[in-house]
Amino acid sequence: MNAAARPGQVASPIDWQAVRADFPLLQRQVHGKPLVYFDNANTGQKPATVIAAVDDFYRQHNANVSRAVHQLGSEATDAYEGARGKLAAFLNVRADELVLCSGTTFAINLVAYSWALPRLQAGDTILVSRMEHHANIVPWQLVAERTGATVRVAEILEDGSLDLDALYASMTADVKLLAVAHVSNVLGMVNPVREICREARKRGIVSVVDGSQAVPHRPVDIAAIGCDFYAFTGHKMCGPTGTGALWARREHLQAMPPFLGGGEMIKEVSFEGTVFNDPPHKFEAGTPNIAGFVGLGAAVDYLSTLGMANVEARETELLAHLTEELNRIEGLRIFGRAPDKAAVVSFLLEGAHAHDLATLLDLEGVAVRSGQHCAHPLLQFYGVAATCRASPAFYNTHEEIEAFVAALCKVRKLLG
Ligand code: PLP
Repeated sequence: MNAAARPGQVASPIDWQAVRADFPLLQRQVHGKPLVYFDNANTGQKPATVIAAVDDFYRQHNANVSRAVHQLGSEATDAYEGARGKLAAFLNVRADELVLCSGTTFAINLVAYSWALPRLQAGDTILVSRMEHHANIVPWQLVAERTGATVRVAEILEDGSLDLDALYASMTADVKLLAVAHVSNVLGMVNPVREICREARKRGIVSVVDGSQAVPHRPVDIAAIGCDFYAFTGHKMCGPTGTGALWARREHLQAMPPFLGGGEMIKEVSFEGTVFNDPPHKFEAGTPNIAGFVGLGAAVDYLSTLGMANVEARETELLAHLTEELNRIEGLRIFGRAPDKAAVVSFLLEGAHAHDLATLLDLEGVAVRSGQHCAHPLLQFYGVAATCRASPAFYNTHEEIEAFVAALCKVRKLLG
């Protein structure tokens, strides 16, 4: 049985202690205490193979992509396009439908400016769920302001799940676009995006799924989801910051005008007019984050070797342990109690401010996030100004959960 399994739990085919050793940063101390990194919903740590891939690119292959005929230029282009191919296979989509960009925020803005802005008008509605990250709210507000369209909120229930009956009832004829998270970054709720996108499609509504918190934690088959657009970010899935992608149906990519203009996104430029490149390059103006994508390709290799089903099973087990421990603490309230949940736990402790908790936990070596988690409307629903959020990943351990809970109890006494 693997060393990290707990009594009564099924043995994992993965040696999770060995996996943990792949992450150099996890070996360090903070404030003289062993680091317990529980802020994975914010950004994930990087395995040595990802760090080495970025390092090797700069040492051995650095050149610009799609421009130079020399050896280094073709090596850099192959590495960059190779990463696109790896990502596409990982998510079961075509590589030429995957626009590489700086992350989810860019990806959703690309849809907002290139798809929505030229199409929407007064009288149209954009349906946005209550649990969205600001990256999947603000671009739609900007589009609404400029087109006269309206943003309508798809509400959640008290347990944090989407109110699906209300959602389907609000998919009226005026709704042109639906924006929904695959997994909530605050509550961990997993939305049934396959069913939701099917219902949207039946009614001619274009669906935009924010997969930022799903792709790093569970197997994702974008083709099976059946959405129109799927956005995700690389830094939460063991990859470098400044990487991510937008998947879009080919017909949308062909119909959409470019978002940004410049080099790489053109076939021919004259002062009489410009011929744009084919998708996805039409949407990739300028020199991309080449080394970052090489690193993201290595991250995909790393996660594929682990197997996303194993990652999901491991995090489900950690979540169960964490929830069980937190449930024992009197006066602790967990936000998001619906059963289908990823390893993100937002909580408040009676009598303690979330920021105070996080600051004191930091002194114990525990990294959690406190605040509104870029989701003001969601916190407004619960009537709280801030929460603490603990988000373990597959490389965390049961011992760390116990250390975290012990630190929480100690900190509570200090605040008491
Ligand atoms: N959407 C969700 C659900 C997120 O959790 C995040 C990051 O926290 C984002 C969007 C924004 O991602 P990025 O800052 O990488 O663009």
